[in-house]
Amino acid sequence: MIDIAREYHVALPAWIDDELAGTPGVLPDRDDRMRLVHRLADRNWREGDGGPFAALVAERESGRIVSVGVNVVLTSGVSSAHAEVVALGLAQTALGGWDLGGEGLPDHELVVNWRPCVQCYGATMWSGVRGLVVAGEGPELEEITTFDEGPLGADWAEQFEARGIDVVHDVLRDEALAVFRAYRKAVDTEDGVVVYNARGGSA
Ligand SMILES: [Zn+2]
Repeated sequence: MIDIAREYHVALPAWIDDELAGTPGVLPDRDDRMRLVHRLADRNWREGDGGPFAALVAERESGRIVSVGVNVVLTSGVSSAHAEVVALGLAQTALGGWDLGGEGLPDHELVVNWRPCVQCYGATMWSGVRGLVVAGEGPELEEITTFDEGPLGADWAEQFEARGIDVVHDVLRDEALAVFRAYRKAVDTEDGVVVYNARGGSA
């Protein structure tokens, strides 16, 4: 018998319940959705679950929160457990299927605290969301955090738009950078804060 694993486990950390206590289930203002994402991203790295990244899936019009995700690469031991993948998977689990744009469903949007990495680019594209909301794009994330986000094409947003996924840029951008800078400061000055892909594309 070949000795192989037959499943793997990716789940939200226990502190999520504490962090979401008092958060309404509906956030009609898009800035409020991003504010929640920034809060989760900031707490996530401080708790040691993974990088300073978070995401959520919401109904675009009403703002009902369908799922949240944080980067749990460190606690799950699974390299693909990025915030977007976690949020999308949990939204699909909650709604009972692989297509968030399926028949009879309201339009869903993914809200993330930076432009997706090369992995999450694909995961977002195939998820069925009709919108992607990012706090920012550009080189700042990689420059500040040293994470390697992979070779995303310059036309990444146009490719989403061509597939019926609207991209909203620059929602609370400075607040995203503040989270990244706090994380970087801790990496430089504290023990035990890990940039888990610091090997980047070199190995
Ligand atoms: Zn990613």
